[in-house]
Amino acid sequence: MNTPTESAALRFAQGPRMNALTLVQEQPRETGARLEIDLGAIAANTQLFARRSSADVMAVVKADGFGHGAVDVARTALANGASSLGVTGIEEGVRLREAGLRAPVLSWLNPVDADVESAIRQGIDLAVPSRPHLEAVITQAAAMRMTAQIHLHLDTGMARDGSEPSAWPGLCRAARLAERSGTVQVVGVMGHLGCADHPSDPCNATGRTRFAWGVEAARSAGLRPAIRHLAATSATLTDPRTHHDVCRVGAGLVGIDPSRTVALRPAMTLTAPFVSVRRVRAGTNVGYAHTWTARAVTHLGLLPLGYADGLPRAASGRAEVLVRGRRRPIVGRISMDQVVVALGDNRVEPGEIATVFGPGDAGEPTVADWASWADTIEHEIVTGIGSRVHRHTRAAHAGALRSLS
Ligand SMILES: *Cc1c(COP(=O)(O)O)cnc(C)c1O
Repeated sequence: MNTPTESAALRFAQGPRMNALTLVQEQPRETGARLEIDLGAIAANTQLFARRSSADVMAVVKADGFGHGAVDVARTALANGASSLGVTGIEEGVRLREAGLRAPVLSWLNPVDADVESAIRQGIDLAVPSRPHLEAVITQAAAMRMTAQIHLHLDTGMARDGSEPSAWPGLCRAARLAERSGTVQVVGVMGHLGCADHPSDPCNATGRTRFAWGVEAARSAGLRPAIRHLAATSATLTDPRTHHDVCRVGAGLVGIDPSRTVALRPAMTLTAPFVSVRRVRAGTNVGYAHTWTARAVTHLGLLPLGYADGLPRAASGRAEVLVRGRRRPIVGRISMDQVVVALGDNRVEPGEIATVFGPGDAGEPTVADWASWADTIEHEIVTGIGSRVHRHTRAAHAGALRSLS
């Protein structure tokens, strides 16, 4: 027999285990904020880019496909005109392989001690920006008695990733030596433009010239890079001189055009149900630090999502949502998990759905609206949606909804 204290202690110790079991057995019914991803939009956007250039399209699916699901975006893009995939780190590429995708994959940003072995084994091309990176690839490929496919990466004017021009001829010569030993094959040369969103900026001409010089220098060193690539979304849309053999398109696939020259289709719709609605008097202060005060009697609705779910706090005081076909302001500060919407004389029922953003067809705010309210870019909004938002993917063809979480 246990004493009462011992029994309580035992129950306490067993409690969490039993709860964990319960959780595994019955999934809680889904409620709350919901993100719907329209793969039809991604299909249409990919087709537009494939038509736009005679170069091949590399679908850039870094950062989980710009928050849209890397595997879904990759599959959809490959079925609609893209012929290869681009990611930042090797792990992102490995996940594409694990999902069964066999298209060429390029990973372009890795520390020197990255898991090069996995990349080589999985047939993932690696961008090489420096001699230490090249040495790491050579060492690993030699140990595996395999040939790594690499793209030499030249800094074409951002002072970010890529080889400095002064180190480039040496990098090309070292890569050529490694080709002779069979450890690497230089299949590509890449650069990246820092000002392509503004096509008339002279930085673009400098980048193009430097890239052409880099390709020439590689050829002089005896390399024969078949895949030259410089353009991302904006340059693909605005400057055919940057297209070369492959255009690396990321933002454009998910409906973001930083050059503001074409109408792409946004793919995300974020909604949430009202948790509660209350009627308040004039003079009522709302939220942390009372940054908003009701001027007249109004209804206030509470939505269960906040900055931990990806609504930028910087949009406080400007952001709106769509309720019953009308834009309504979010009032007071955006909190971590919740926001308050001023509904005026409209008494909304708890459980009714507000649209936080979508393609804009019904007058709802867009991701672009949210970006401007928060003084940021659309990329930051779509990659920032938190993990507790339920995700659903609408297939490109049938319009069927597939539940992801
Ligand atoms: C993110 C990225 C891209 C894709 O750029 P978008 O403008 O989103 O199309 C291409 N190349 C590199 C090196 C990148 O980092």
